[in-house]
Amino acid sequence: MTMSGVLRPGHCQLRVLDLEESVNFYTNVFGLVETGRDDTGRVYFKCHDERDHNSFIIRESDRAGMDFYGFKVRDKATLDRLESDLRAYGVSTERIPAGEMLETGERVRFEIPTGHIMELYAEKTAIGDGLGYVNPDVFIENRKGISPIRLDHWQIHGADLDGSRDLFINVLGFSLVEKILGEDGKTDMAVWLTCSTKAHDIAFVRDQRNNTVHHASFLLETWEKVLHAADIMGKYRVSIDNGPLRHGITRGTTIYSFDPSGNRLETFCGGYDFYPDMQPYTWTWDELGSAIFYHTRALNERFLTVVT
Ligand code: FE
Repeated sequence: MTMSGVLRPGHCQLRVLDLEESVNFYTNVFGLVETGRDDTGRVYFKCHDERDHNSFIIRESDRAGMDFYGFKVRDKATLDRLESDLRAYGVSTERIPAGEMLETGERVRFEIPTGHIMELYAEKTAIGDGLGYVNPDVFIENRKGISPIRLDHWQIHGADLDGSRDLFINVLGFSLVEKILGEDGKTDMAVWLTCSTKAHDIAFVRDQRNNTVHHASFLLETWEKVLHAADIMGKYRVSIDNGPLRHGITRGTTIYSFDPSGNRLETFCGGYDFYPDMQPYTWTWDELGSAIFYHTRALNERFLTVVT
């Protein structure tokens, strides 16, 4: 349920080093569904249980990382309202015409204080999940690989965490769900925010490397599916950063791995429901290990340092 007019993370565009190697990985190992290619060479995917035409777009580049992040909003009136709210807040916006991305309406694009390019859009063609809308069956057949349900959230890094946090809360209507305080006991080092009742729709980490991404995250149905994802990663020699494991933050159970270009992906399940009347959880610096990796309480160097 939207609490703010922003419905959910709707799409993101990722850079990959070798397009066809990546298409094979995302189709046969990660288990996304290819839904189209455009005349700029971009390849479009969705998760099997998502209904809109696309949520994950890749393009070939000489550098890994994310081009932009898009949130779907309730309708065109909400899009217009949020654009004028952004401008009133001092944020420059740009309209990307409908059709620039396949099956996607007009987008409002803007840069946030951590340097990331964000978009809002109201329209994307619904192609369904293949089960129909009348008396649908309860499962989708012939799923491949890890096969996540949906694009869930991103963790992104930049120096002006306070600026991006405040913009998301004050303009886009997100709620603070959890945060990690720095050694001084006052500064937010990381924040988890939601526009819905999910435990997080986006996370920001304070980091001098502006406009970087730590991971794009995809939801699985169960802890058993997370364990099975680890088996698939083992079989196909996917590079695993850490996991399977549990977070203290959000209580999610998860694996971090890398795609063939070095983009970190999270495949997780769990997390509690959050409503805007709830008090956020705070983690202190001395409990950082438990916050991130609840069982071992020890952070690995690669998890802390590698971003794209
Ligand atoms: Fe995450």
